[in-house]
Amino acid sequence: MAEGSVYDVIVVGAGIMGSFTAYNIRRTGKSTLLLEQFPLPHSRGSSHGQSRTIRSAYGSQEYYTKMMTKAFRMWRELEDQSCQILFRQTGLLCIGQKGVNYLDDTADCLQRHKTPFRRLNDAELRETYPMLSYPPEIGGAVIDYSGGLLLSGRALAAVQNQYRKLGGLIHDGEKMVEVIPGEVIMVKTEAGQYRAKAVVLCVGPWANNVLTKLGIAVPLQAQKIRVCYWKEKTPGTFSSRQFPVFSQINAIGPHLVYAVPSEEYPGLVKVCLHYGPSIDPNVRDKIDDSWVVEALQKYILEHIPGLEPFPAITESCIYTNTPDEDFILDHHPSWENIVIGAGFSGHGFKLAPVIGDILAKMATGQTPEQDISFFRLNRFTKSHL
Ligand SMILES: Cc1cc2nc3c(=O)[nH]c(=O)nc-3n(C[C@H](O)[C@H](O)[C@H](O)COP(=O)(O)OP(=O)(O)OC[C@H]3O[C@@H](n4cnc5c(N)ncnc54)[C@H](O)[C@@H]3O)c2cc1C
Repeated sequence: MAEGSVYDVIVVGAGIMGSFTAYNIRRTGKSTLLLEQFPLPHSRGSSHGQSRTIRSAYGSQEYYTKMMTKAFRMWRELEDQSCQILFRQTGLLCIGQKGVNYLDDTADCLQRHKTPFRRLNDAELRETYPMLSYPPEIGGAVIDYSGGLLLSGRALAAVQNQYRKLGGLIHDGEKMVEVIPGEVIMVKTEAGQYRAKAVVLCVGPWANNVLTKLGIAVPLQAQKIRVCYWKEKTPGTFSSRQFPVFSQINAIGPHLVYAVPSEEYPGLVKVCLHYGPSIDPNVRDKIDDSWVVEALQKYILEHIPGLEPFPAITESCIYTNTPDEDFILDHHPSWENIVIGAGFSGHGFKLAPVIGDILAKMATGQTPEQDISFFRLNRFTKSHL
């Protein structure tokens, strides 16, 4: 672009959401600049790491199950375009709790969407997955055969490469410092300034800082998540040939525990708590979160006895949670040409192709085909404009 020209859209934040948004915009031939504060790749936000779980099962939140139909298709498209495997279909085992409707809701929803699944009672659960150990009346399980794991690090690089192949520009290591609204928006960075007809903000855990400056107060909470890998006592017991991705609701207090078979590091199974302490993303590791590892150790001793009860490796990542754990996909209340994608609450990765498509349409004056009424800002904002 010549100096002084106006981009059709500037996307801020090259995590999975910003990258898919920029890619979907560029596919329509529009001029696009993707700005990222850190040199790529980096491990400071929410989209790094080797795996994410993917599933159709979403309890009573059928709007996500509906979005997943398109998301699976778009992931397959990206696999074809990038000539690499990005998704391993292992199935997703979801263990319930007696008296909680989650499994019934999930089974009903999967049935309605003609997604293959199986309901397991406690005895069947024990017989099918003898490496798991639960009390006799756990409340059964559902296996969602559409589910599995995404090779997330590879997927993030793949979408950024496809975007570049289409002529999309990425400026990494260039932090956006100010967005000056207007019919033509001015975006100032630490290195320069750019103009655009529309801006999409996908700044992950930094959303509070950025949105507050634009007059929007959203109760977003950044949480540090410890990603723990545990060694198999007998190699191969938890390989994806015999063990699916799994999650257990209300496993530790009200929090979910999930696991990914030993696919990322040979002989190590990822088992994590879907919760962590609130943090400032600029100083993520300042806080002591050793209680998370201790709680997981206890869980593993009781329920996954085939793993050594000490993590072999731990890594860290950040969730950005909304109070209801639904996303925020909306226009700025005063400036239609500023679009916000935020609050992906620890479950956004699998939906990123669809989110990117929605945000791209919102930034280019089109109407998204999905129902986005669940994701409006005004369900909890106090705009002080
Ligand atoms: C441990 C862990 C496990 C997860 N498991 C799953 C799972 O199994 N399934 C699933 O679907 N989802 C999962 N998620 C959630 C999913 O990974 C996130 O929802 C998703 O990655 C959010 O992406 P994002 O693009 O919004 O944020 P990010 O990846 O954080 O991207 C935001 C980007 O914006 C940049 N940025 C911020 N401010 C600026 C600025 N001023 N200027 C320029 N750039 C800026 C940041 O540097 C960052 O790169 C998990 C998340 C974590 C942390």
